[in-house]
Amino acid sequence: MDEALLKQALEFGQPYTARGEVASYIPELSKADGRELGICVRSVEGGEIHCGYWQRRFTIQSISKVINLAMALERFGFDAVFNKTKMEPSGASFNAMSRISDSEDIPFNPLVNSGAIAVVELLLPVGLEGMLSAVRGLCGDPEIAIDEDVFQSEWSHSARNRSLAYLLQSKGLIDGDVEEVLRLYTQLCSLSVTAESLANLGQVLANGGVQPETGRRLLKEEVIRTTLTMMLTCGMYDGSSEFAVRVGLPSKSGVGGGILSVVPGEMGIGVYGPSLDSKGNSAAGQKVLEYISRTEKLHILGRLIH
Ligand code: GLU
Repeated sequence: MDEALLKQALEFGQPYTARGEVASYIPELSKADGRELGICVRSVEGGEIHCGYWQRRFTIQSISKVINLAMALERFGFDAVFNKTKMEPSGASFNAMSRISDSEDIPFNPLVNSGAIAVVELLLPVGLEGMLSAVRGLCGDPEIAIDEDVFQSEWSHSARNRSLAYLLQSKGLIDGDVEEVLRLYTQLCSLSVTAESLANLGQVLANGGVQPETGRRLLKEEVIRTTLTMMLTCGMYDGSSEFAVRVGLPSKSGVGGGILSVVPGEMGIGVYGPSLDSKGNSAAGQKVLEYISRTEKLHILGRLIH
């Protein structure tokens, strides 16, 4: 893979930016330019290629759920996490209430809002500073910080997530201070990253939890296996299965326009394209990944067949 291929992939994806819209339910996000598109790829050998708006800062949004999940698994273990959420695709939108409101059910998985908010309660003892330093380390990006404008914008428009959080409390899935949990969840969504930071994170996930340049183990292998499986099955909300068929890579999207993709054993990929489809996934970003996966034969199941 080289930069010429990334350029072709962005050219292939570009028309699809017009088929989506930037998020507006968090008003600050509507300021993004929906035509922008960028990509960065980091191999486990340490090489990097990039193209387009790969240095643009944007908020990580739901891709933080991957880090939260991995950190909660690492520090508190499998049972602590999966007592709070199941591990099934929800088939519903990212902030759906319907699937958990009427029954005794717990959230479908840790990568939808309800499950992620429940998981963040586990991280309260780690706190914002502890999580910030973990995120900076995993993303190899010391400049990651809270985008205060986006945080305030989401915080003052978080009725939906607040409802979910209080519903979780009513089911005994949040024991502590709901507002504190929600604040940390929203702060972690408001961290500013680039496609390069996501590619660095993907590189660590692709390399079984070891940061290739330093040789430091940041996450256990079993944590990586669970996290990647959740990404493959649930990472693109109610578009997860179609994306798995078309692209076949463990991935996670965010409404800031980012997509994190992992080619296990090979590379991490970060994509930025803030124009979103109706499910909240980057419209063009998905097409860019589809182009690359098809051209380079990266689909993980396709490879096994060959
Ligand atoms: N902060 C966003 C929310 O909770 C994240 C959603 C997303 O990126 O899909 O609504």
